[in-house]
Amino acid sequence: MAAAVTVIDHPLVQHKLTLMRKVETSAAEFRALLREISMLLAYEVTRDLPLTSVAITTPLAPMQSPQIEGKKTVIVSIMRAGDGILQGMLELIPSARVGHIGLYRDPKTHIAVEYYFKVPEDIAERNVIVVDPMLATGNSAVAALSRLKSAGVKACKYVCLLAAPEGIAQLQQQHPDIPVFTAAIDDHLNDHGYILPGLGDAGDRLFGTK
Ligand code: URA
Repeated sequence: MAAAVTVIDHPLVQHKLTLMRKVETSAAEFRALLREISMLLAYEVTRDLPLTSVAITTPLAPMQSPQIEGKKTVIVSIMRAGDGILQGMLELIPSARVGHIGLYRDPKTHIAVEYYFKVPEDIAERNVIVVDPMLATGNSAVAALSRLKSAGVKACKYVCLLAAPEGIAQLQQQHPDIPVFTAAIDDHLNDHGYILPGLGDAGDRLFGTK
């Protein structure tokens, strides 16, 4: 059975996403909004982290208090647009380790081609959150998750900002064990593999390259 797709429909997320979609939103505003939204996505995706109880002392009394248990999280950014989500998530989870996967989309075939892979050595033992703003064809997501699984990763979630139904279907078919978190599911892909209505090219909007 395919893993769950969670649409994070919090009003703050939806409001910020609307601002990001607008064609007139500047690169500086887009960057700031992606950082803010990513903190809210991180909040949702870490909701089920296990807690343990530790003994502490407040200025007034000793107590048992909850603390996140176990291994550090690794956030893996699919370059380059994933870095926008990575920055926001790191503000909320500053102790997280970071991995990068470089994939470019062949403009004709839309197939993902890897050009960079650098992750923590012990990634197989850690909880992994893979981030990329746009789940379009799903080819990059599938390639990134396959690569991480061959590096031994077992506990993994996939976080994006916008998903196309085609990308979700592809991900669920190839990696039915990976839960997906997104702020919205849009209508469909155009002939160039862009999400409609979408927000355009997330990398270009983030870095002001077009
Ligand atoms: N990548 C983007 O940046 N935007 C899309 O719509 C699809 C893929």
